[in-house]
Amino acid sequence: MIPSDNHVHTNFSTDSTTPMEAQLLQAKTLGLPSLCFTDHMDYNFPSKGHATEFFFPVDKYFSAIRKLQEKYPDFPLRIGVELGLKKDVLPQCLSLTGSYSFDFVIGSTHLVDDIDPYYPEYWEARGEAEGIFRYYQVTLENLQLDFDFDVYGHLDYILRYCPAIKAARETGTVPEAFFQTYFNQNKEIIAEILQCLISRGKGIELNTGGLKYGLGHPNPHEAILSLYRDLGGEIITLGSDAHEEKHLAYDFSKVAGILRQCGFSRYAEYHHRKALWLPLA
Ligand SMILES: [Zn+2]
Ligand SMILES: [Zn+2]
Repeated sequence: MIPSDNHVHTNFSTDSTTPMEAQLLQAKTLGLPSLCFTDHMDYNFPSKGHATEFFFPVDKYFSAIRKLQEKYPDFPLRIGVELGLKKDVLPQCLSLTGSYSFDFVIGSTHLVDDIDPYYPEYWEARGEAEGIFRYYQVTLENLQLDFDFDVYGHLDYILRYCPAIKAARETGTVPEAFFQTYFNQNKEIIAEILQCLISRGKGIELNTGGLKYGLGHPNPHEAILSLYRDLGGEIITLGSDAHEEKHLAYDFSKVAGILRQCGFSRYAEYHHRKALWLPLA
């Protein structure tokens, strides 16, 4: 059985136009056992190329999902959010998670020093090695701020945007040496991030967005998933990061094999902010 998808965007996210119901119907078509919407909430996102911030009206979001839960009572549909973490929005984030009963909260680093690494100027200012290291530094800083979340989103997704990867993707596959180089260069800080997550009882996700982007690996890379396991980490959730229904549960047929190779025998889903454990099929 294909596992359920726990990182899914809809038109409540600024960068998606997909109706919630379309994602839900696709989940039913694929035979997913459940689904969790995790739309973007990035407070104080510098607006560039987007008409508005990555922000949604929370009451409307809850009532839209509740309506779908009533319409499809036999299908477990959960309410999540993907919070963009950065230090100046800690109070807003804590207020959101303290005031609303989400099932699942993903914490993600989308901005590094208030710049989205999606844009070339991020890399022009720092260069590749420093741009990647700074992302991990900011991730660690975010972790030390006591944000309230369940798993860290797409750890290492910075690699999707770095110029060498983009160039390699245009000519074919990304050489494995690239991942090894940047893993080895950042191993210490990645281990510190993972230890910090483990000590706080928080997980990471296997995000198949990296496979969709042509990295040849999920985010994070298997080396990071294995390191998390070796350090004693147990909590892994699964997400496609789909912004369109055609990407829902993207490459989910591969996730059990990937996780088993990294030393896991089960994965988690969240309901009322509590982990439900499921065996890898
Ligand atoms: Zn994200
Ligand atoms: Zn996302």
